[in-house]
Amino acid sequence: MTCRKCLRFPVPTSNYDEVAINVTMQSELYRCRTCGQLIQIFALERGIHYLSPDEAKSQFPDVDL
Ligand SMILES: [Zn+2]
Repeated sequence: MTCRKCLRFPVPTSNYDEVAINVTMQSELYRCRTCGQLIQIFALERGIHYLSPDEAKSQFPDVDL
């Protein structure tokens, strides 16, 4: 589930809420304010990953979705 806005992540930054950080993985989880899609980024690479809620919970154990 993505929308036109989050396919352009990370701009505009105002469209995303930061919902969790995994310090061990140096990874951050954001949520699109328009459609609710979860988006994961890694500090050490430029990759963007679009996650399902189950995937997000497995990678961010303390996330509150
Ligand atoms: Zn979206």
